[in-house]
Amino acid sequence: MKKEFVVIGLGRFGGSIVKELVSLGANVMAIDTLRERVDEYASIATQAVVADTTDEAVIKSLGLWNFEHIIVAIGEDIQASILTTLILKEHGVPQITVKAQNDYHEKVLRKIGADFVVHPERDMGIRIANNMMSTNVLDYLELSDEYSIMEIKASDKIAGHSLIDLDIRAQYGINIVGIKRGATIIVSPVPQDPILLGDILLVIGADVDINRFVKKAL
Ligand code: ADP
Repeated sequence: MKKEFVVIGLGRFGGSIVKELVSLGANVMAIDTLRERVDEYASIATQAVVADTTDEAVIKSLGLWNFEHIIVAIGEDIQASILTTLILKEHGVPQITVKAQNDYHEKVLRKIGADFVVHPERDMGIRIANNMMSTNVLDYLELSDEYSIMEIKASDKIAGHSLIDLDIRAQYGINIVGIKRGATIIVSPVPQDPILLGDILLVIGADVDINRFVKKAL
């Protein structure tokens, strides 16, 4: 049987959840108070409905409490988000995921029994900051808008492999022009020599290609 979800609020967040769930093979009922938003999702969602979910009678007539999982993605209108969550929870919807606008909103949502509270902007900011801190890119020199030389620390994913092994030029279109190993610097490294853990690779290429290499290989 197909999994079934309801997404309430078709802004950027709710909308992208609808599209992703549908592409993963789920049945999705998409709800918004605005007709134009609903029209946008009419051909994407299994069912798209114009409704105000702060009205208990509306929730009842749509049979929302028969669904296992409901996503409340109402943005700005915190009162509507809380009221919707409260009504759904009171009627025993087992799993409710709610988008919180701020910490107070999150606190109230948890108090009234929201099962999952998400904070997309904050969570994404944290994720991006962490990625930036953990990256192996130590330093870089911009050659132009698109090209750079970067110092990249070799991880255990590539340590032990040679440049020929990794086929970096063909795979990524970038060149390793030097390797810093402790106090020494190897210019024009021999392609057959293995890269050691902790080596610092001096890489030249287009930023997009170097980033691809960093993401895949490090
Ligand atoms: P985002 O930041 O994800 O783009 P928005 O605030 O733009 O969020 O979108 C929230 C959506 O929720 C809007 O399309 C709005 O019309 C809808 N919405 C607001 N209140 C209700 C409600 N009571 N019932 C259903 N949908 C609602």
